[in-house]
Parts: sequence; C-alpha cells; structure tokens
Amino acid sequence: MKISINADFRPSKIVCVGRNYADHAAELGNAVPSEPLLFLKAPSSLIFNGDSIVIPDQSAQVEHEGELAVIISSICKDLRQSADVTPYIHGYTCLNDVTARDLQKKDVQFARAKSFDTFCPIGPHIETDLDVGDLNVTATVNGEVKQSGRTSQMVFPVDELIRYISNQMTLYPGDIIATGTPAGVSTLSPGDICTIEIEGIGILSNPVIQRRTS
Ligand code: ZN
Repeated sequence: MKISINADFRPSKIVCVGRNYADHAAELGNAVPSEPLLFLKAPSSLIFNGDSIVIPDQSAQVEHEGELAVIISSICKDLRQSADVTPYIHGYTCLNDVTARDLQKKDVQFARAKSFDTFCPIGPHIETDLDVGDLNVTATVNGEVKQSGRTSQMVFPVDELIRYISNQMTLYPGDIIATGTPAGVSTLSPGDICTIEIEGIGILSNPVIQRRTS
C-alpha cells in the first residue's frame, strides 16, 4: 500500500548508516566498518518530492546519496538478535542523503555537512508492503545514471540495522533509518534535477538551486 507523506511529517530523528555498501566505502577511501557506523541528520533538513535542494554558500561540494529509507511504526528498544523486526516497520521510501562533502571532511563530525536545510529529500510516498532484500537503488542527475546498486549489497541488511540501532537509542514512530548509499556519488550544481529511484517504491525528484544571500 502507498501512503502519502505530507509536510507535517516530523520524525524525532533521522538515523543514517555510513559505509554500508563496500563499493561506496572504497570510493571515499574508507574501510568497511565491523559494526554499523551511525550518524544523525537533523529533522529540520527534511523536504519532499519536488521541493528544491538548496546549495549553501558554505560548501563547494554538495553531493547526492541515494538510499533506501525505513520508516519506524512503533517504539523500538533493545531488540534481541533473534527478534522479528517487521512489527516495527511502517514502510519504506526513497531518501537522498545530501552531503556537503568538503565540510564533512573539514569538520570531521558529520552534523553540519549532513544537516543543512533541504539536505534530506524523502518520498514520493511510503510503501508499506515491500520485500527490500534485493531492490535496485538508482540516483540520476539530469537523467544520467550516477549510482546504481542493489540492496542485497548492503554490508548490514535492514533487519540487522534495526536491531543494532534499537540497542543504541530508542526508535520512535516516524523515525527514519537511512540505510547507506552505493558507489557513484557526484557533485550537484544549481539547475540540476536529481532523482532517486527504488524498485517497488517510485521516483523521488528534486531540483537543485543556489541559496540567495542578500
Ligand atoms: Zn548516506
């Protein structure tokens, strides 16, 4: 079933997983972690299908990261290794983990680079009925395919991620887990159209503009 997402959608947090596809870890010169590498995006960075990604003046290297996102349905805490995660999953959507790569490297901490306003497009809707074990994840810029991977290539699959995260912090209804990105990230420029497409979900499309300062 497809559920629409409206602008009132405000998760308590957006939990992201870094380096969850080996080919993307390699393209940034990083090793694959031995346990999931977590960071957060501010909920204030959320935008929706058709909204503009705004490039801030502080960065000269804003990149797309196409990702499968999990939307949590109910309070989820301290799951055991054998726990069934399906009761905690509301559904899935496409997510663009927009990143100021230059600031990510400069700051070391990811908070600023990942959390500018408009840096978390999600949509076009939530799909509640989907087997996410082996889906194609594609990112395009102006129609050109930049990223194309399969969820089966994740280092840590969705069920392991939910169990792991639930032991680090309580997940609340509406919380988002961004499950990592495959190789092929590239820089966005004003005037671009960036799309994230996941098999069985649909296409999330966002134009890119430069922030105007007066
Ligand atoms: Zn990411």
